[in-house]
Amino acid sequence: MSKNDGVFRMRSLGTASTGIVDQYADGKAAKLWQLYIGDQKNRTEKYKNFLISLLKRKNVTTVLDAACGTGVDSVMLVEEGFKVTSSDASDKMLKDAYKTRWARRKEPHFDDWVIEEANWLTLTRDVPVPNGGYDALIIMGNSFAHLPDSHGDQRDQRVCIENFAKLVKPGGIFVIDHRNYDYILEHGHAPKNNIYYNSSHIKDIKTSILYINQQPNLITLDYYMNVEDPEENTDDTHFRLSYYPHTVREFSSLLRSAFGPKSKHTVYADFKAMAEEPSPSFYIHVIEKAL
Ligand code: SAH
Repeated sequence: MSKNDGVFRMRSLGTASTGIVDQYADGKAAKLWQLYIGDQKNRTEKYKNFLISLLKRKNVTTVLDAACGTGVDSVMLVEEGFKVTSSDASDKMLKDAYKTRWARRKEPHFDDWVIEEANWLTLTRDVPVPNGGYDALIIMGNSFAHLPDSHGDQRDQRVCIENFAKLVKPGGIFVIDHRNYDYILEHGHAPKNNIYYNSSHIKDIKTSILYINQQPNLITLDYYMNVEDPEENTDDTHFRLSYYPHTVREFSSLLRSAFGPKSKHTVYADFKAMAEEPSPSFYIHVIEKAL
């Protein structure tokens, strides 16, 4: 068990009233992230075709990855020749992205890769905006559920999604995913299969659900990792992340109200048609913003 078990180490990213926190500030998740996601190519292989063919079909050039973390999806997009801007609120996570950009700076497109520290609440001010907006904006890896519902009325969620909608150009694409919280809330644990994270280093993931006024308010996942190589000097093999759950229905309606009824909204289950995968690990929402 970790010596920090039970202790949330968070750094405030905003005013106390917004309650925005960087759960990655102690660097524990960042340190174990590569182990957690496993081989980067293996991870992205599972949805690379889906994402790249969607972006190419829509003639996308500029992409904003607004929750880039250590840069796993951004690197895939840079390798594919897209003009990528990556942002994240956590400097600890971004550190790995900066290192990769530096290490691969002589490879095509890597020296054009823009990386910025940016919070979704102020995203329109924090990242450079191409004329008319980005051709595509992606937020993947269950990132959005990190945002606390500080006021209990999803005000902050709305502000962020409206910021995303502003940053996508008319006719552009928005891709955002989340874990299958409908399943987690019903069963008390996540589905066994996981489209994103199949690393052999994951020993166990424990789920706890905090209810406030009979409503599920916070889902905490404790990740226990198998670190065999003492050379890695990893003194801790546990990290904890908390999520503010949303059902597919709730989240779909938030998206539709920000992007407007003329935008096309499609939900995929583990990157397949909904009917093909009744208990997916992730839902992926794709919005084609109206012209
Ligand atoms: N997409 C990456 C990272 C997922 S981890 C991957 O799949 O590997 C979730 C990321 O969301 C973290 O790096 C965290 O710092 C970021 N994040 C959480 N809240 C944020 C906010 N309000 N603004 C910007 N980024 C945020």
